[in-house]
Amino acid sequence: VRVLANRYEVVRRLGKGNFGTAYLCKDLRSKQGDDYELKVLKEISVGELQPDETVDAVREARVLSKLNHPSIVKFHDSFIDGDCFCIVTEYCEGGDLDQKIIECTKTKKQLDDKTIMNWFVQLLLAVHYMHQRRILHRDLKTRNIFLKKNMIKIGDFGISRILMGTTDMASTFTGTPYYMSPEVLKHEGYNSKSDVWSIGCILYEMCTLKHAFDGKSLMAVMYKIVEGDPPQLPEKFSPELNKVMVSMLSKDPEHRPNATDLLKLPLVSKHLAQMS
Ligand code: ADP
Ligand code: MG
Repeated sequence: VRVLANRYEVVRRLGKGNFGTAYLCKDLRSKQGDDYELKVLKEISVGELQPDETVDAVREARVLSKLNHPSIVKFHDSFIDGDCFCIVTEYCEGGDLDQKIIECTKTKKQLDDKTIMNWFVQLLLAVHYMHQRRILHRDLKTRNIFLKKNMIKIGDFGISRILMGTTDMASTFTGTPYYMSPEVLKHEGYNSKSDVWSIGCILYEMCTLKHAFDGKSLMAVMYKIVEGDPPQLPEKFSPELNKVMVSMLSKDPEHRPNATDLLKLPLVSKHLAQMS
């Protein structure tokens, strides 16, 4: 068996992402019942990073470890191991929203309206919490949103910043473009409204199980994002919800609401009152 930092015993590989490989681990310093607590360890090769950039990454990771929100995957630990930067987070046994959507598509089941609203509001609360602290996500997508006991949690918050420094997302990007905003695709810079765009795409996907902007090729998807009309929700959803989603998909980030605006909307605040 492989043990990292004298503490994290690898149980199995969860998968490979943009920035490295994720493993399910036992934290040998944290008992839970008869066994150890399960956590996720992400191993990122930093061979390319300059030593001072590595120091920045460690400093940023320390900031993230201080954050506490029920809808954000808890950031536990980070350390350097050889030429890898390792990040340890909470494990979400419910898997990610991408898997959930695939499962719904296969079984021809929609997510129910209540669940959609619950998850949407939780996403807004999480994003609001981070934006208040001037931390952006930069890579919001269904694969970075996790389920744990029917609660939703955003993962990898702030991590792309650690890993890319100030570099431009669109030019270093290798993953999926589905959730990228027009300004990011046009290299006009990432800002908090770009996260709002991505949440708009995720809301559409929770409602329809389809990508908000889709096409046969990468170029076709990118063209729709930059030039295409925003999609509309099917009739069975309320016009209010459709209006909110369409506003989040405004091409110009200036016209998009921020998380604070969204939480104040009657549709959202009414739901919030019911939740607590
Ligand atoms: P990406 O986000 O690009 O898919 P990651 O390295 O973040 O890549 O994740 C790789 C895999 O590990 C994904 O299948 C994801 O669902 C899973 N995973 C990542 N973080 C967690 C977590 N905190 N809890 C459960 N599964 C996770
Ligand atoms: Mg991820």
